Amino acid sequence: MAGYNKTKFQLNTGDEIPAIGFGTWQVGSSQYLPPTVKILPDHMLIRDPTKQDKDAQEDAVYEALKAGYRHIDTARIYGTEPGVAKGISKSGVPRSDIFITTKLWNNSHHPDDVEAACNASLKDLQTDYLDLYLMHWPSPFARGDKLMPQKDGEIQTGDSDYVDTYMAMEKLVKSGKCKAIGVSNFSRAELERLLRETSIVPAAHQIELHPYLQQTDFVEFHKSKGIHVTQYSPFGNANPIYDKGENIGKLIDDPVLSDVGRKYGKNGAQVALAWGIAKGHSVIPKSKTPARIQANFEGDFKLDVEDVKKIDALDKKLRFNDPSQRFGWNFYADLDGKQG
Ligand code: NDP
Repeated sequence: MAGYNKTKFQLNTGDEIPAIGFGTWQVGSSQYLPPTVKILPDHMLIRDPTKQDKDAQEDAVYEALKAGYRHIDTARIYGTEPGVAKGISKSGVPRSDIFITTKLWNNSHHPDDVEAACNASLKDLQTDYLDLYLMHWPSPFARGDKLMPQKDGEIQTGDSDYVDTYMAMEKLVKSGKCKAIGVSNFSRAELERLLRETSIVPAAHQIELHPYLQQTDFVEFHKSKGIHVTQYSPFGNANPIYDKGENIGKLIDDPVLSDVGRKYGKNGAQVALAWGIAKGHSVIPKSKTPARIQANFEGDFKLDVEDVKKIDALDKKLRFNDPSQRFGWNFYADLDGKQG
């Protein structure tokens, strides 16, 4: 089997995370967020089962595993955990060969809710342990069953402190339900506080990272603390939800990526992934298209140092995912690409 199946990175737990994972946000849904919508209704987050195509989720995960991926990225809010379980089951690949990441959603931040939320994910994923459990965002929502609790068109925020939430997640490591825990979408100050006030150093931080948003200083900070970086949205604005009507050319069509790719016989998407992996990050591209699912996995090449440098020069500090207004939280306050 060609592809990145042998490339892995070691986490601070001693376990390894495969360099390439399969992203499942928006797999099995054609719902995208119009730029003018402030509040994200549940179905826009592809949560409403009537708006989802579970078979498509199962098929995509099956295609990914068939292509050789052994790392799947899901989240409670994506509504894809059952589809992931079905795809794994259909593939026949043993659970022990697959690295599964899922994420705690914002309505379950209260320390008394964390274990139940994890149990629900375990049940839907049909597994008795997670390889990596991430706090999806530092921002709490109101407690309860509603994933996007709203009042008068605004999200109802909660008052749990992410430090307390994380300490509840630490218990899941001790009980064996999670092999590793980590965070996603934290600012540097938030991460520093977490490191000061909790006892398990996050194994991974999942952040938006691609050649247009490289966050070089922040990445160095992670290295100094032994925190692995996973790049989400590794193709930047290939995700249509990020189109703000600003006519920013697609990252994967950037002439630098195409030129570099020509040298290796690879396309811009494959070069973007190889760049992230060259930096020591895991990358989690999403596609619902079988040929792309396969092609993204089949990069399997190393960029020469001078080509990595050419791509380094593309940084525009351009962030596409900032739900600060919607979630009632000032995300990334001290990071590159903070939108005003
Ligand atoms: P990606 O950067 O993976 O881009 C996905 C888009 O690129 C889709 O529109 C897909 O189209 C298209 N695409 C995929 N492969 C190719 C290719 N070879 N050529 C051309 N176009 C291609 O975006 P995501 O934002 O989905 O991020 C990836 C994953 O990261 C998510 O699925 C999720 O798992 C995770 N994530 C985590 C977040 C967090 O808060 N922690 C936030 C955002 C993402 P198509 O599907 O039609 O083929």
